[in-house]
Amino acid sequence: MSVLFDRVAIMGIGLIGSSLARAIKAERLAHRVACADANAAHADRARALGIVDEAGTDPAEAAAGADLVMLCVPLGAYGEVAAAIAPALKPGAIVSDVGSVKQAVIRDVAPHLPAGVHLVPGHPVAGTEKSGPDAGFAALFPGRWCILTPLPGADEAVTRRVADLWRACGMTVERMDPDHHDHVLAITSHLPHLIAYTIVGTATDLEEHLKQEVIKYSASGFRDFTRIAGSDPTMWRDVFLNNREAVLDCLQRFTEDLTALQRAIRRGEGDILFDLFTRTREIRKGVQEARQA
Ligand code: NAP
Repeated sequence: MSVLFDRVAIMGIGLIGSSLARAIKAERLAHRVACADANAAHADRARALGIVDEAGTDPAEAAAGADLVMLCVPLGAYGEVAAAIAPALKPGAIVSDVGSVKQAVIRDVAPHLPAGVHLVPGHPVAGTEKSGPDAGFAALFPGRWCILTPLPGADEAVTRRVADLWRACGMTVERMDPDHHDHVLAITSHLPHLIAYTIVGTATDLEEHLKQEVIKYSASGFRDFTRIAGSDPTMWRDVFLNNREAVLDCLQRFTEDLTALQRAIRRGEGDILFDLFTRTREIRKGVQEARQA
C-alpha cells in the first residue's frame, strides 16, 4: 500500500483512534503518526505500544504540521478539541473524524476551522464495547462500512483522500447527507443500545434473589444485551445528547410497536407474534448474507 499522508495526527487514542493508528502503521499509510489524548496514561500507552511516533496531551502540538487530523474523542469533546487545534492547523490541512453522529460534529467543529482547512466528516461503522488504547486492533475495519458526509461544495479531491485512507484500512466507503446518516444510525445503532441499557437497567432494579438468577441464566438472551450495555458510558451519553431528535423519533415508533405487541400478547393473538418473528428472522438472514453478522 502506498503512503497517503505525510503526517497524521489522531486526537483521542482510544478504541477507534488506536485501531486507526494500528491500521496506518500496518499498511504504512503515513510517514508519521502523532496523537494527543487528554488522558496522559493513554498517550504514554500508545507510545509504548509503538502504534504512534509521538504522543502527548497537547492537541495543538500533535496537529501542527499534520496534513490529516482525525478526531477520535467522545462527541462532547469535539468543540473543545477543534478550538485547541485551530491555531496550529497548516493551510490545506484536512480535519476528519470518526464520530457516531454527523450533524453535531459539523455544528461543533466547522466554526472553529480557519479558511483553507478542509472538514470531511466521517464515521467508520465498526466498534466494540471496549475502550482505551489497548482495546484497539487493525482488523476492526476490514469488511465494514465507512460513511463520509462531505459538506456542500467540498473539494472532491480532498474527500477522495479521506475515502482512500478508509479503503486502505479495508473498509467500503459510502457517502450520505449528515441528517440521513443520523437517522439511519439512530435505528441501527443508537436505539439498540438504548434498549440494551434499559433491559440491563430493569434487571438491575429487580429484587436481590431474581437479580442473581438473571446473571446465572444470562445465556438465555440477557447476556447479549449486557455486552452492548457494557459500552462506554461517556461515548453513549454523548451520542444520545447529540442525536436527540432522530433517536426520539425512532423511540416514538418503537414505543408504538411495543404497545401493539403488548396488546397481541394480552389478547392471545399468536399469528401477529408469529408473523412479526418470521419477518425479523428474514432480516437476520439478510444481515448474515451481507456478511455484517
Ligand atoms: P474511547 O476508547 O473512550 O477513546 C476516546 C479517547 O479520547 C480516550 O482515550 C479518552 O480519554 C480521550 N478523550 C476524552 N476526552 C478528550 C479530550 N477532551 N481531549 C482529548 N482526548 C480526550 O472511545 P472510542 O470508542 O474510541 O470513541 C471515540 C469516537 O469514536 C467517539 O466519537 C465515538 O462516537 C466514535 N465511534 C465509536 C465506536 C465504538 O464502537 N466505540 C464506533 C464508531 C465510532 P478517557 O478515556 O480518559 O476519557
